[in-house]
Amino acid sequence: MSRAGDDPRGQRRDGRGHQRGVARAEGRSGRTAQAPSARARTCDPARAAAFDVLREVSDADAYANLVAPRLLAARGLAGRDAAFATELAYGTLRMRGRYDAVLSLVVDRALDQLDPRVLDVLRLGTHQLLGMRVPAHAAVSQTVGLARERIGAGPAQLVNAVLRKIAADDTETWLERAEQAAGSDPDQRLAVRWSHPAWMVRALREALVGHGRPAEELAALLAADDEPPRVTLVARPGLVETEETLRQAGPEARAGQLAPTAVVLPGGDPRALPAVRDGAAGVQDEGSQLVALLLAAAPLDGPDAAWLDLCAGPGGKTALLGALAAGRGAHVVANDVTPHRADLVTQAVRALAPGTVEVRTGDGRETGEEEPGRYDRVLVDAPCTGLGALRRRPEARWRRTPADLTSLGGLQRDLLGSALRAVRVGGVVGYVTCSPHLAETTLVVTDAHRAARKAGVEVEVIDPAPTLRQVTDADHADALTPAGTVQLWPHLHGTDAMSLTLLRRLA
Ligand code: SAM
Repeated sequence: MSRAGDDPRGQRRDGRGHQRGVARAEGRSGRTAQAPSARARTCDPARAAAFDVLREVSDADAYANLVAPRLLAARGLAGRDAAFATELAYGTLRMRGRYDAVLSLVVDRALDQLDPRVLDVLRLGTHQLLGMRVPAHAAVSQTVGLARERIGAGPAQLVNAVLRKIAADDTETWLERAEQAAGSDPDQRLAVRWSHPAWMVRALREALVGHGRPAEELAALLAADDEPPRVTLVARPGLVETEETLRQAGPEARAGQLAPTAVVLPGGDPRALPAVRDGAAGVQDEGSQLVALLLAAAPLDGPDAAWLDLCAGPGGKTALLGALAAGRGAHVVANDVTPHRADLVTQAVRALAPGTVEVRTGDGRETGEEEPGRYDRVLVDAPCTGLGALRRRPEARWRRTPADLTSLGGLQRDLLGSALRAVRVGGVVGYVTCSPHLAETTLVVTDAHRAARKAGVEVEVIDPAPTLRQVTDADHADALTPAGTVQLWPHLHGTDAMSLTLLRRLA
């Protein structure tokens, strides 16, 4: 297979990533220097797969991380080819804003006037040239082959001309040009360089500052969002030891830095590990593990037997809570409003002893009224914008809009309010989001607190520092916010930007 990185004819970049051959040829004739006979007539399967993932994401509003594994398996792509196709698709989706800014400087019409298939091919080619170490010759010829095979000869010519222009300069040169074209607004410039919508740049700056971090960390946060996350496993206590999971994962795996249950993999397919296959371990962000561990470790007087996971699907946190509960003789009720998500919870807890977790389908907003004061610990892992997990969902940043904050805000307040009623006096509620946005974290807690008081339910925010010190070995004071929340950050902790506030019901 003529995969780009291995193409024996591929030209190597000079120190600046500049393609001398292409640039000279362009300078002389303005046309391709390749003989027509040398041009790829067809495309390789990995690029074709990446293109099809992009098309499904655009046309069917699909999620890339659901489409890609299915499509690669169906086409028999594995190993390096699968890895190449995945990085090509995910990287292109993540960096779309940056590449569109560059393409706008080269294409002679507005990008929304292009055939969407042509635009996707151009983005794929630009990612190979500016975001991957694919030799420019291979990136251009293979991507032109893709355009020819999938769209036609005319579009292939356009793709050839545009990509050859882009190949003539290195990434930094293009970024400086694109920033210049974005004007003097610093947020617009950051949006182009780090490929985020400008409103998200502003929201993430406000989130950093609002949670007590310096605004100067913004570029590092945006850059961390652009990096593919490492695969992290959770070793579920009582089912498999962290040491044993590390052993199965091989010498290049390492223990996590925050959660004692976490194992960070160097790569590869986690399903190959026996512990993952039998459900004793699972794939879970280390920040997700930490917030579940903190809720389970928060100090509690009196009975500690009835736990509730109000928004449980697909069940990552339920499985960890269930493992901890089993070790303490407690029982977990795991609820989700969507039957399919509830089924995923049942699958996630399959390794636990029957009866440890009871899976239910229902609207969590009603639980407080239906089961007032029944639970000792309640997790509200609320539906949110996912602004803290952009690394994980390549297309998410282009789908979300500021209006989502408003529509989710009411649900988040209602779910937390319901949890504060469902917990017993003296019990603990953990309010969690995978978003650091103030409208989904601090503001929800403040409003739900106020609404609970009006309804005769008194609560206090618990200082999470002692529990954090108890659960993690190292000093992670940088995860504590002035508002008493644990706020993790991709650029500081290598996790999703998970947020946890612990609340105790007083009356
Ligand atoms: N805790 C899960 C885990 O660790 O795997 C992730 C939970 S996800 C952030 C939020 C979940 O809330 C979704 O599965 C969604 O179906 C569920 N949800 C949304 N509205 C709900 C409601 N009114 N009642 C209960 N669950 C709800």
